[in-house]
Parts: sequence; structure tokens; C-alpha cells
Amino acid sequence: MANPALVFHRISDTVYNLAAVRTGAVRCQLLRSTLVTQGLLDDGLIDRHRPLLVFGAGPAGLNAAVTAAQAGVNVHVLEIGPAPFQTFHRAHWRRVDPFEYDWPLPHHGQGASTGSQASRLFHQQQATGTRLAMRWAALWQQWDLQFNGQAGLGKVDLQLNTDATHFTWQEQSPVTVRGLPTLQARGRWQAGQGPSTRPFGALLSCTGFGNERTFEDPPPGAGKPGLWHGYRGPRFWLDVDGVPADHKQPLVTGEAVVSGGGDGAMQDVQRILTGDFGLALLKRLDKLAGTQGGPATPEAQLYTLLAAEDTARRAFAWQRPGHAPLAALLQWHQTYQAVVAQLMAHWQALPGGLQTLAKGLLRQQWLDGQLRLTWAYPGAVPDHAYGLNRFLCEVLLQLTQTMQPALAARFAALPGHRLTHVQPHAASHTCPPGEACLGTQHDVTLTPSPPGKALQRVAVGLLVVRHGLVRQPLLPPQAPVADQLLPYTLPA
Ligand SMILES: Cc1cc2nc3c(=O)[nH]c(=O)nc-3n(C[C@H](O)[C@H](O)[C@H](O)COP(=O)(O)OP(=O)(O)OC[C@H]3O[C@@H](n4cnc5c(N)ncnc54)[C@H](O)[C@@H]3O)c2cc1C
Repeated sequence: MANPALVFHRISDTVYNLAAVRTGAVRCQLLRSTLVTQGLLDDGLIDRHRPLLVFGAGPAGLNAAVTAAQAGVNVHVLEIGPAPFQTFHRAHWRRVDPFEYDWPLPHHGQGASTGSQASRLFHQQQATGTRLAMRWAALWQQWDLQFNGQAGLGKVDLQLNTDATHFTWQEQSPVTVRGLPTLQARGRWQAGQGPSTRPFGALLSCTGFGNERTFEDPPPGAGKPGLWHGYRGPRFWLDVDGVPADHKQPLVTGEAVVSGGGDGAMQDVQRILTGDFGLALLKRLDKLAGTQGGPATPEAQLYTLLAAEDTARRAFAWQRPGHAPLAALLQWHQTYQAVVAQLMAHWQALPGGLQTLAKGLLRQQWLDGQLRLTWAYPGAVPDHAYGLNRFLCEVLLQLTQTMQPALAARFAALPGHRLTHVQPHAASHTCPPGEACLGTQHDVTLTPSPPGKALQRVAVGLLVVRHGLVRQPLLPPQAPVADQLLPYTLPA
């Protein structure tokens, strides 16, 4: 039987791609890189005489390198940044948790993975991106000092400040006695030296998922500025985006718009309304719903949510390219809506009812009628996203809708709407392509599809654009974007 991890990530006989995976969490990437590297070892593609070439020194890339080196394979890693784990270094406060988004599975609050579950070296604990990067960098340095190239282990050469796109490669087959193909890669293997060619047993690309799409297509700099006048929203990992974490603190603006139907948009909807997102918000909800230590959501309803998510995820994993399973998505979302409606009825009967819940969860600014949030997304329902984000956004929607009608309108979901026009509110501001417009008011147009009456939002002080990622697969032919299959743990 062919190795499933290799089949799933294979570009050619010697080239494998761990970038461009959709919704791949860190733990999932670690698992994938362990499994693919083990597959390369099992199939004899890499060994003592057939080194491994890795693009990208994120958790996936360095985990693959260490896994291969521990089996005696020499590895060369190319990293574009000045240090490993570049993607995470920037995230000073945003939480990365190995299990949070496995909700509603019971282990979602576990907070830490063990080595046996994903990677021998890079254990993952709930932490901010920066902290994780620092911890992993320390583990890598320790391994580098103590074990790298020692006692029968392979040697990992980490080449920093090197863009893998400046390298070329081609397969030559067969050039070894065992008839296995070999990859010839060409580039500058050392700073200050000219290009040369080196043979490898395999290439594994782990360059991450691409840049966040917080700007209009085509990207700034690619031609005319378009209908957004070069507007660029705050990046997901940005330290300061105008949303205070403390829900008692007001936002700097009374008018906010979030555009996008995926996880990024959903996290920011939660943060804008409550100051929290994901697990932290769920914990607050549990506490407020008054169940002693137990979840706010009874088990039977959790099963219903889990079954709906499982069905939809399978539909996405096995979809035909270009044919999103919209009926499955609709059913997934409607099940969540129905369950949240049941919970609302249940919570309403609790002492204090929904008012207590709203007071404990929502920003005072919203309760005082001083904050309006419009959440627009292009589909009839929000897009493919983690169950926890879907659930919490639906709770917030239904909770705010049951408040006084005047307030309910101050948080509206706007299905079937796209962001079509953004312009500075004051003539003194120009949106310079390539720079953030954070902290400056803009006028925003949201247009329905099919076309109808567009919605205007004037003097928007916080416009968050979460339109997914601009994928940058390095590998020709254009690497397909694989949906996430869920390897929860290493097969024993
Ligand atoms: C907006 C966003 C939010 C996320 N939130 C979460 C979360 O809450 N929890 C979670 O578990 N996961 C989250 N993820 C996913 C998480 O970021 C990824 O699972 C993880 O970073 C993947 O690890 P990786 O090693 O494959 O890629 P990365 O961590 O992205 O590492 C890629 C490495 O390749 C390098 N590189 C890039 N291009 C080149 C090049 N041309 N040449 C050489 N090197 C290059 C980069 O500098 C980087 O060091 C999020 C991802 C995004 C984009």
C-alpha cells in the first residue's frame, strides 16, 4: 500500500509539499511533517547517502529536518528570514493552542501536546506566537548544540536569509544503484559563493500558507489601485489593531466593519464585541451560564454539533476541485443555528436570563448603544471555519438579537455581501498602497450578490478585512491546495 501521507503531499517522485494546506493548525503541520518524513525514510527516498532538502524553517520544516537527522539523514534547510519560526515571531499576543479548535471534542481544553502526539522535539503548549517561537528556538538550539551531526545522527545545515525561490531543481532518474530518482538542486549554498548543484533524495517544501489577504485584488503595486483606493487592513498577527483585549475598555471607534466569512473574521467579530475569542470566550460563557465547572452546552447538543461538523468536513475533504459542497456547508451552519437557539431558550430560564449573559460577555460600549458592528460575508452563511468560532459567533448574534430591537441592529450579520468600495472619510487621508490605514476613518460600501441595494457605512473607524490567504506555492506545477484531513495523532 502506498504511504497515504506521501500520496497526499506528493508533487512528483522526489518533491513533496506541506505548504498551501487549507486550515492546517500547527499541531496538524507537525504531524504531517513527521508522517511525510517517516514516509520518505520508509520508501528509501532519503537515507545516509540521499540527503533531504527543506524549504522553510517553521515548525513543519525544522521538525522534518530533525526527524530525518535522527534517522541518520543529512538535511539542508533554506529559510528566508534571519531566524527560524518567522511566522510566529510577529504574534506578540495572539494565542496559538494545539487543541482549542478541536472543540467540541472533549480534549479541546487540554492546552498542551506531548511529543508522542506530533513531534519528538517541538512540543506545543498554549502560548502566544512569540513565546512559542522562543521556546521552539531554544529547543532547536539545544538540539543543534548537543546532537546535530553527532553519534550517527545526520547533520542539519540551516541556511538563513535565503529565499528558496532563488533555487532551481530538477529530477534525474534513475541515478543511483537502487534505481531511485534523485533531485538536482541549484543555487547559492553559502553566502558569498556562486551557484552550484547538489544532489538530494527528496525536497520538502514547508514555506507556510501564504500572505493574509487584507487588501483588494489585485494587490497594491500590481497595477491601478482599484475600488479600495489602496486600502490595506490590519494584519491578523499585528500587535496593535485597535481592539483592546479587556472587554471593559472601549474601542477607539463607534463604527466597525468586518468583512470575511472564515476563522479570521470570526475571531475578530468575537474580539470586537467581547474582547475575547475562542476558548477564553467559551470559558467566560460557561462561567456565566452558571454550570459548576461543566460546559454551558449539554452533551447531547455537543454531539449534534460534532456530527454536523464531521459530515461537512468530510464533504470538504472529498470535494471535486472547484465544487465547494455548499449544501453541506448550509446544513452545518443551520444545525449550529438550531442548537444555539435551543441553548438560548435554556439560558433564558437561568437566573438573570440573557441580560446577565449579555452584560458579562459584551462590551459596555455596545450595551450603551455606542458601538455598531457590521459583519459581511459573501455566502448565504459563513464559510468553512472551525466549529468553535462558528458557535461563538452564532451565540453572539442570537444573544444580541434578543436584546432591545434598537440595540439588536447594532450587531448585524450581512450574508451575501462583498466589500466593493472603500474610501477615506476625510479628504486629507490618502490610502497609500502597501501601508496600513489603521486608525483612520473610511467610508465603506457593501454590495449584495445578486446585485441589490448596496449598504453604506460611513466613518468606519475599524475595518477588518479577512479574505483568506494569497497562496504562494513554490513548486511547479502550481501545487494544489489540499483540504485538511485530520491526523489527530501519530498512528501507533
Ligand atoms: C492568519 C493565520 C492564523 C492562524 N492561527 C492559528 C492558530 O490559532 N492555531 C494554530 O494552531 N495555527 C494557526 N495558524 C496556522 C499556523 O500558522 C500554521 O499551522 C503554522 O504556521 C504552519 O507551520 P509551517 O511550518 O508549515 O509554516 P510557517 O510557520 O508559516 O513557516 C514557514 C517558514 O517558511 C519560511 N519561508 C517562507 N517563504 C520562504 C521562501 N521563499 N524561502 C525560504 N523560506 C521561506 C518562513 O519565513 C517561515 O519561517 C494560523 C495561520 C494563519 C495564516
